[in-house]
Amino acid sequence: MRAAFLNSLICPDCGSGLRIYAAGKKGDVVDEGVLYCISCKRAYPITEGVPILLDDERKRKWDAQLLSAMLPSIKNRLVSGLVEGMIARIKSLDTSSGWEWDDVKHWQGVYEKQLSESGRLDQKNLRYFQRRQLLGRLARLKENAIVLEIGCGSGITTSRLFNFRESHALYIGTDMSMNAIRLNKRTMNYENSEYILCAGDNLPIKNNHLDYLIIFGVMHHMPQKARVLDIVKAKVKQGGIIITHEGIIKPRPIPRFMEGRIFGKIKDSAHEERIKLSDLEAAVKRTGRVIARMETMSPLMELVYAAFPQLAKGERNYSTYKIIAAIDRLSSRTLGRIFRSMRGEEWLYVVRNEE
Ligand SMILES: [Zn+2]
Repeated sequence: MRAAFLNSLICPDCGSGLRIYAAGKKGDVVDEGVLYCISCKRAYPITEGVPILLDDERKRKWDAQLLSAMLPSIKNRLVSGLVEGMIARIKSLDTSSGWEWDDVKHWQGVYEKQLSESGRLDQKNLRYFQRRQLLGRLARLKENAIVLEIGCGSGITTSRLFNFRESHALYIGTDMSMNAIRLNKRTMNYENSEYILCAGDNLPIKNNHLDYLIIFGVMHHMPQKARVLDIVKAKVKQGGIIITHEGIIKPRPIPRFMEGRIFGKIKDSAHEERIKLSDLEAAVKRTGRVIARMETMSPLMELVYAAFPQLAKGERNYSTYKIIAAIDRLSSRTLGRIFRSMRGEEWLYVVRNEE
């Protein structure tokens, strides 16, 4: 992290401002070091240029190991006993279990595999086109905007949807997985970026600070589900934009357990629970004014994609997708409730934070 990024950060345990001690520095960038809080006497390691800002409920033994490794070089430079006290505190915490950690472990493995593969990552291009169609209607990123992504993952979607270079935006990627952050750095390959290893529902970022907040397919991994929007909203400036995309529960023609029998079990995650559309809608409306909304991954789009995979291969086919998406939207509107089960699997919202 660059030293200037300190002005954006707060202590995840008490919300006070942090101070920095750089143990390893390259120019303006702190590779290894410690962030510490004078108010609550907690210390947080920085490793590979990434601050680990986990609250007490989520700290792991790793935090203590990182701090211990730095101790000889920082011992006499920091407030006496602060780091030693922190190491003892972390060792006394019992935080390496529960579904949240199972999920992090699962994704650590997924991203580790992707990290070992060279070359460009790819994903179902269809999702990319559909999101582009919606986001294309929005104005370009504001000049020098501050953009934070919760659960930044591999960065494959975000790096394609937004043009950070054009607007000189600051991109802040956050994730609970260090492998995700390593992979995201490689995918984004963008110099004006910062990363934080932290929990999405306890962002160590000042309030009213962000111009854009992105949450793509992450809320269903969080204990609060869509209600997490009520928490993270405080980090966004008045008039700032929240963009979210989430899988929803919908009626299925074949029960899920039968689907498994017929098509074989498809397991994406250690923790795969979708969100009720009504809960998502309500949470989004509490967040601000909805300026755009789109359902994606509907059966018609899936069908077209499966039949003509070459259509999704390049941006030159973008106009074809716009036509299919228009027919798709029209059919879901006109046929109404009867075809509710035919509607999109995932919903995307763009919300302006307004009182
Ligand atoms: Zn503190």
